[in-house]
Amino acid sequence: VDWLADLSALRRRVSSARAAGGTVGLVPTMGYLHQGHAALMRALRPQVDCLVLSIFVNPTQFAPGEDLATYPRDLEADRRLAMAEGVDVVFNPPAEAMYPLPPSTFVTVEGISGVLEGKFRPTHFRGVTTVVAKLLHVVEPNVAAFGQKDAQQVIVVRRMIKELLFDVRIEVIPTVREHDGLAMSSRNAYLTSEERRAAPVLARSLSYAVEAVRAGERDGSKLAKRLADLIGREPLAKLDYAAVVDGWTLDPVERIHGKVLLAVAARFGRARLLDNACLLVDGSSVSTVLP
Ligand code: AMP
Repeated sequence: VDWLADLSALRRRVSSARAAGGTVGLVPTMGYLHQGHAALMRALRPQVDCLVLSIFVNPTQFAPGEDLATYPRDLEADRRLAMAEGVDVVFNPPAEAMYPLPPSTFVTVEGISGVLEGKFRPTHFRGVTTVVAKLLHVVEPNVAAFGQKDAQQVIVVRRMIKELLFDVRIEVIPTVREHDGLAMSSRNAYLTSEERRAAPVLARSLSYAVEAVRAGERDGSKLAKRLADLIGREPLAKLDYAAVVDGWTLDPVERIHGKVLLAVAARFGRARLLDNACLLVDGSSVSTVLP
């Protein structure tokens, strides 16, 4: 695996792959890689000739007071995982490469960036869409992979790609979970052992809510309240939101039908964790789908 920190080296590497007739895939990450990230690499590996993994803890998606400085890092373990997954290029730039000047130019997706996560992290998605736009601009991948765990990110990035006319296909990968259901996340490293035992309440509550929809529940606000109640019973969970929203607009849904996202966020000590389920509801038929 080629480990590159330099933008021009990355551009050269990708254009030589393309000059040889190859296709390019991109997996953007913040590192401290786990099996969720590996699933993204595994999905793209057979589809492309040149697989690029980016590892960049992007400062603009963190607000002052958030965990930018303490975000977990282990580049040596990341290198081994990338190699084991057959990644061709790891792009691990310093912040000055991605932000050569104090940033004054941003990509903003209005509306859907301001709800759910956006209510609690008002500048987060502006940072995400800005850095993803830069990566797409530099790598020009044919396909890029994103995880369902960050469902709102998928919806916001997809919207940006469509509106900014990026010629890239987005592949969404189902959430990879620990054995007890907890969605894998680099931030799980922040959990104490007591908090770790409490954290699967998010996945359990979502499974319960999905079963309720399968059993015929169609009242969105009732379901959201039920989700909040279930999570609220766990004393170590501090709920930020439990929402039932339209899968495209992210507006709250009253009557559950079509594509619907059940999204939750809660704090367990220092760790702020997200989880979601996405459903396609058509009359009495209910199936789980990707956002
Ligand atoms: P991160 O390094 O946390 O920014 O995540 C990089 C990419 O991996 C994002 O597209 C995430 O949605 C995805 N990802 C993170 N955790 C998981 C997981 N448990 N399952 C699937 N994808 C994930």
